[in-house]
Amino acid sequence: MILEIVQYGHPALRAKGRRVEKIDIKIRQLAEDMLETMVDADGVGLAAQQVGLPLQLFVVDVSDVTDRKSGLRINGEAVDINDHMPMALVNPEVEPYGKEQAGPEGCLSIPGIRADVIRPISVRVKAQDLEGNIVEFEADGLLARAVQHENDHLNGILFLDHLDPKTRDECLRELEESL
Ligand code: ZN
Repeated sequence: MILEIVQYGHPALRAKGRRVEKIDIKIRQLAEDMLETMVDADGVGLAAQQVGLPLQLFVVDVSDVTDRKSGLRINGEAVDINDHMPMALVNPEVEPYGKEQAGPEGCLSIPGIRADVIRPISVRVKAQDLEGNIVEFEADGLLARAVQHENDHLNGILFLDHLDPKTRDECLRELEESL
């Protein structure tokens, strides 16, 4: 089922997500609906906050992106990213590392606005999957960026918050004009 994506200004986007204590059929259905919604909207990630539910859950899928590279390592070994997409991560702990790099970002909740955001190029992630199993991996490039962007959502943070005040004001003005 395609869900409504809430837009900039909605209070859920500023809410810290509750920990998911029980990964049950309802959570699995929500994750499935979020994936369907993300694909329908041509996104590479979607957080529960963006469908109005402040929970520690996001989905991501960078497998269709060919012009921006991603890397994925499990137990220190590089694996084929397409074997692990899409990902639904529950209660993630995300630790960014490595040198910082600027890269373009947009957000399904802030339509039409794109800006370069500076973030570390890699992340270490520990989370639960939809069966409740612990998953651990390291990611680089676009996947690392997407994970950081989505993990920010789980904490009520938007990519606009990372911009310098002048660029942020320009984005907000552009957004207002488009509404
Ligand atoms: Zn977003």
